[in-house]
Amino acid sequence: MSPGGDDQGMELLREAFDLVLPRHCAGCRAPGTDLCSACAMPLTLPPRPDHRRDVPRLWTVATYDHPVSDIVNAYKEQARTSLAIPLGHALAAGVRSALPP
Ligand SMILES: [Zn+2]
Repeated sequence: MSPGGDDQGMELLREAFDLVLPRHCAGCRAPGTDLCSACAMPLTLPPRPDHRRDVPRLWTVATYDHPVSDIVNAYKEQARTSLAIPLGHALAAGVRSALPP
């Protein structure tokens, strides 16, 4: 088998699945992807401190509005488990930021 053969096989399999069960972006419904780069972008921004009063120190990973709210809902309500990866990376970044230096 040539290098990359497994990747080509997986891509062909993915394309076959797309014919039967078309994928769309969880944020904007663009076809052919689970999450487009534009909708993934808010999850890749650096976490920032949230300075609310009367609560322990908080960190904000992303604002819970479009497209992040749509992504979270697609993961939770539609069982789109592929979204666990970008959501997990954002959560991990938030936890790293909250840890003491
Ligand atoms: Zn999108």
